[in-house]
Amino acid sequence: MKWTNDRSGNFEDRRGSGGGGGMLVGGGLGTIIIAAIVFFLGGDPSAILNNGASSSQQTEQRQLSKEELNIGEFVSMTTALNEETWSKIFQENGIQFKPAKVVAFETATQSGCGPAQSEMGPFYCPADQTIYMDMSFFNELQQNFGAKVGQFTIAYVLGHEYGHHIQTLLGTTQKVNELRGKYSETEMNKVSVATELQADFYAGLWAKQTDNREKILEPGDIQQAMSAAAAVGDDNIQKRGQGYVNQESFTHGSSAQREEWFMKGYNTGDIRQGDTFNALLK
Ligand SMILES: [Zn+2]
Repeated sequence: MKWTNDRSGNFEDRRGSGGGGGMLVGGGLGTIIIAAIVFFLGGDPSAILNNGASSSQQTEQRQLSKEELNIGEFVSMTTALNEETWSKIFQENGIQFKPAKVVAFETATQSGCGPAQSEMGPFYCPADQTIYMDMSFFNELQQNFGAKVGQFTIAYVLGHEYGHHIQTLLGTTQKVNELRGKYSETEMNKVSVATELQADFYAGLWAKQTDNREKILEPGDIQQAMSAAAAVGDDNIQKRGQGYVNQESFTHGSSAQREEWFMKGYNTGDIRQGDTFNALLK
């Protein structure tokens, strides 16, 4: 991906801050809207509530390496490119846009949805409209899930999480939450898959519209996104984790579906084509 000069004022890098920036404290759990949390990797909600473990996870304060600082710049730039593209799309549709905050962290940090731990992977918290980017996730993606990781992998993941922010701004997240309790677990899993695939669609749409404006894409970028989308497909995760695939328990969609919806967003560049709910829940 080609770099631009854009940087976002909504990006905060908490890596290397040790106990200072993002340490976990107890309390505040009453405000957790646990049901609203949409994990990128289908994390276990108990992990976020596991306050006791947090004190042992104090990270050392340390200087970030040149490479880490560079990645921070990249996340800041990609955040700015999401802000620009989405504010344009919202403007065209007469909707008010509000940017998300983006926090890069390692090991653990405090979030508006409770303590965040890196086992959860990157996620979006609707309560504070913030994307938490666990940067160690990308090593994990390469080593344990077989993705070919490059800079555009980070752009895809951020684009996906930004997609969840868009869902919150458009009221989709709230509508999904209203279904909890009314729907069975199996039905709710299907709703979750539709929610996740729409976030992939939004990531593809973002890539297309940003490239139209800024010419950011280089050969191999879309393949990197596809590789990551395939790696985090439920079938791939289940195969690697438990050795078999149970489609009913899918919460994020299969590798093929994730690639398909990212590409649909990318190829159409049209937000109206992203109704995964209608497409999947009929
Ligand atoms: Zn997601």
